[in-house]
Amino acid sequence: MTCHTDNADAERAYLDFLENVEPQLKPRQFALEQLYVAHPCREKLPRQRFQVFDRDVKNHVELFRPENVPLETEEAKLCQQYQKLIGAQTVHFRGEEKTLVQMGRYLEEPDRGLRQEAWELVAKRRLQDADKCEEIFEQLIQLRTRIAQNAGCENYRDYAFRQKGRFDYTPRDCEQFHDAVETEIIPAVRQIQQDRKRQLKLETLRPWDLSVDPQNRPPLKPFGEVGEMVSRTQHIFERLDPELAVNFRQLQDLKLLDLDNRKGKAPGGYQSTLSEARVPFIFMNAVGLQRDVETLLHEAGHAFHAQATRGEDLYYYRNAPIEFCEVASMSMELLGNEFLEEFYPTPQANRARKTHLEGIIGFFPWMATVDAFQHCIYTHANHTRAERKAAYLKLMDRFGGELDWRGYEESRGYSWHRQLHIFIHPFYYVEYGIAQLGALQVWANSRRDKAGALMAYKKALALGGSRPLPELFSAAGCRFQFDAATINPLIQLAGSELKKL
Ligand SMILES: [Zn+2]
Repeated sequence: MTCHTDNADAERAYLDFLENVEPQLKPRQFALEQLYVAHPCREKLPRQRFQVFDRDVKNHVELFRPENVPLETEEAKLCQQYQKLIGAQTVHFRGEEKTLVQMGRYLEEPDRGLRQEAWELVAKRRLQDADKCEEIFEQLIQLRTRIAQNAGCENYRDYAFRQKGRFDYTPRDCEQFHDAVETEIIPAVRQIQQDRKRQLKLETLRPWDLSVDPQNRPPLKPFGEVGEMVSRTQHIFERLDPELAVNFRQLQDLKLLDLDNRKGKAPGGYQSTLSEARVPFIFMNAVGLQRDVETLLHEAGHAFHAQATRGEDLYYYRNAPIEFCEVASMSMELLGNEFLEEFYPTPQANRARKTHLEGIIGFFPWMATVDAFQHCIYTHANHTRAERKAAYLKLMDRFGGELDWRGYEESRGYSWHRQLHIFIHPFYYVEYGIAQLGALQVWANSRRDKAGALMAYKKALALGGSRPLPELFSAAGCRFQFDAATINPLIQLAGSELKKL
């Protein structure tokens, strides 16, 4: 359906699945889980093999409350209202109506006046819906708090941790992660921002100065046609590991790649598994940018994960938890980037590596802001609107780095409104931070011992979801910890690498 949005048959089949198959599937799956939990033979199952499956199914059944079903429907409706509100936001810019996503492109323009104009227009448009966002969010907090209380949890944070099956880390671990971002990563972020400010010859760094190339160079052009991107990426995997090279070749031979941007295709990129055939499929919209090369490496990492678990008989174990799935993909970005000379001469390859590493470091403070904000909100569900704003501004002070927002205080205070996860996928965001720590460790290991690091990586992928997170991480040669002691050496390595580039 996403490959052919203009194909009426595909659309009909997809809607049929959504309307007629899925709603009937869910209650049956749940009935099956209840049967399993109550089954007399359950105790006799080999403990080690069924530990994760048993734990997750039992948790799911125990957390279910029939009285929460209508509340969840209401929640989904509010989420849809938020999406409709955000999706309808457009601006008139230079005689044309543009979506806010389309406006993002102007923030990469070398002309600073143009960037500011574009940014201000978007910020003003967002503020028009600020009150509506606040109202939707307040209704969501109330609903979610009721859902949590119905399930016997003290607050929605506790509920969300259980509902997401987070058995291997606690809210306290996440708070420790936020602290470690503040002490270990913020100094590196400030350094990157100061370098940017100096290169752009600016007095202060404003919100519209973050996406432009600091030396005002035109974008990198890694390839002309998609076929070229695929064959060069094939070369990268051949240099990285013979087994992964065979896997990537299989994706081409079996036509499991749909990569070029064309009319009649949905936006975005993803890796999905064709479950019956047990093979991965990669979808993306390549237009010839460095971002496309990174996306393909990333999705290939997910595809390798799917290929590694082909032989797993228990369907549930063919998927790993998201905190580890993204280790598979994010590691592949870092490992693959070592061979970017397949696309560019070394100076341009280094430019791409620098942008990538700065992006990784720069992600952590926003991740910490989004996560810490939600910890605060849902453990103080009776707060006022003013208290919520004050709490957010405190986090912006803590994690905002060098950015100069003078004159745009109102926009700063509501800048979380654009983060869809906060509204629609509560508490789902820290996973990317956790996974990035794993990926950085795989990369650090490969610096010391390339063959050993890859062997561990592949071994961990092959475990699928059959073991708890700490074991998946340790099989990949990583610690499952988000504290300063784990983060410090990783940021040191990234920092010294950046200096060389
Ligand atoms: Zn991913």
